[in-house]
Amino acid sequence: MAEPGERSKPLRVAIVGSGPAGFYAAEALLNHPELDVEVDMIDRLPTPFGLVRSGVAPDHPKIKNVIKRYEKTAGHEAYRFFGHVTVGRDLSADELAGLYHAVIWAYGAGADRRLGIPGEDLPGSHAATEFVAWYNGHPDFAGREFDLDCERVVVIGNGNVAADVARMLVLPREELECTDTAHYAIDALSETSVREVLILGRRGPAQAAFTNPEVRELGELTDADVVVDPAAVVPDEATTAFLGSEAADATNRKNLASFTGFAERPPAGKPKRVELRFLRTPLEIRGDGRVERIVVAVNELHVDESGVVRARPTAETETIECGMVLRSIGYLGTGIDGVPYDAIAGVIPNDRGRVIGEDSAPHPGHYVVGWIKRGPSGVIGTNKKDAQETIETILEDAAAGALPERRGLDRDGLPDLLGERGIRFVEFDGWEAIDALEQRLGTDAGRPRIKLTVLEEMLAAAGKDDDG
Ligand code: NAP
Repeated sequence: MAEPGERSKPLRVAIVGSGPAGFYAAEALLNHPELDVEVDMIDRLPTPFGLVRSGVAPDHPKIKNVIKRYEKTAGHEAYRFFGHVTVGRDLSADELAGLYHAVIWAYGAGADRRLGIPGEDLPGSHAATEFVAWYNGHPDFAGREFDLDCERVVVIGNGNVAADVARMLVLPREELECTDTAHYAIDALSETSVREVLILGRRGPAQAAFTNPEVRELGELTDADVVVDPAAVVPDEATTAFLGSEAADATNRKNLASFTGFAERPPAGKPKRVELRFLRTPLEIRGDGRVERIVVAVNELHVDESGVVRARPTAETETIECGMVLRSIGYLGTGIDGVPYDAIAGVIPNDRGRVIGEDSAPHPGHYVVGWIKRGPSGVIGTNKKDAQETIETILEDAAAGALPERRGLDRDGLPDLLGERGIRFVEFDGWEAIDALEQRLGTDAGRPRIKLTVLEEMLAAAGKDDDG
């Protein structure tokens, strides 16, 4: 370990992941008034911004304005971007850590939670996260096929991702073309036979995880009526107790009010419908070689010993015909070799951002921010406070001499290693070249942007094609 106060050279920090959590961590370091710091940010894609580019729904362009703030951070002279570099493949976590005083893991939650029911892997049953990555042009998902020639799609889950995919399934072509939706997805989504999206929640409307604007939007769709059974919005005993308790917040109450409004509203006769059906837990997905129907339990609510409203199945079940199921029950983190990992929680165990191993002992020089720190919850801005906490922990450790001693650290360490291994890493100006090309293609087609969705095309645009 370094002696307290020993360091006269800059603090060298690697951040793995260039989504909101990574960028807020970089911003907190680079804007610190007393810190001499150099930040290298690594991403496995040639493009930065994580879920802001490949997760945020394309019809929510304002949310993506936060990129301007991240670009400001990237413009700092002590910031560098290394895209198209996968830790765990191109270099190990230990090799990376050996080049920096601190590594901040900020790679989010890339997998999805499983339902654990029969038929979950039938063709036509997909994780909603994959569908999201597909319509957002993520190169790993651009080749996926979603069979959209069915009348009814069932979406499982009552979170904002479920709301996003439901909207995307019923937007008319003109409302897709004015977004940065991947070009292939615009064609596929505009030509679907989908007439109904059925969103299933296992608990009631007052316990849904949606935020209020996302619920309101479901009632404002150009081509789809929103449908809620009036009986579903009458609070039962458990919900009445919940709404009267401190556990319920304004979001719960406003959501219930919106759902009540939907239930009272006569259908306007639009060509499509989005129905929200509550108190339904999937039991089995069935079909002859592909999804044809889903069997669900009809639930009732009760308050458990800790005061939480939970769903439990009644004897009643329901079978719903459908051609596609999107499982939208949350993202899940994944581990990385050489770094402690809690596979059950899907997070890197940590104390205020300081990675800890067995017996809660610190794993020196390793820190964590964002979804891989706290799980897949909260909105983009939640990551700001989260990152600040981790940076304070790093500074505490630096002041206490608890960062690993690294003699002779050199700014060329990472680019030299990657160069020796023939890794075609993309720097921030390479991303800017991709960005400029995407915008130019968009302008030519009368769209805001046409995303490059093939890895080699991205690398070529960044000047990193095979001959480059
Ligand atoms: P989420 O908000 O955690 O919602 C997950 C949903 O899945 C909940 O309704 C949950 O029900 C349900 N669920 C979990 N396990 C289930 C099971 N085994 N069977 C049936 N249902 C199950 O997750 P998300 O929608 O993936 O969103 C992730 C985060 O990103 C959230 O914080 C979200 O707000 C954020 N996000 C924000 C935006 C936006 O701001 N516009 C857009 C997209 C995502 P219970 O409540 O009963 O557990």
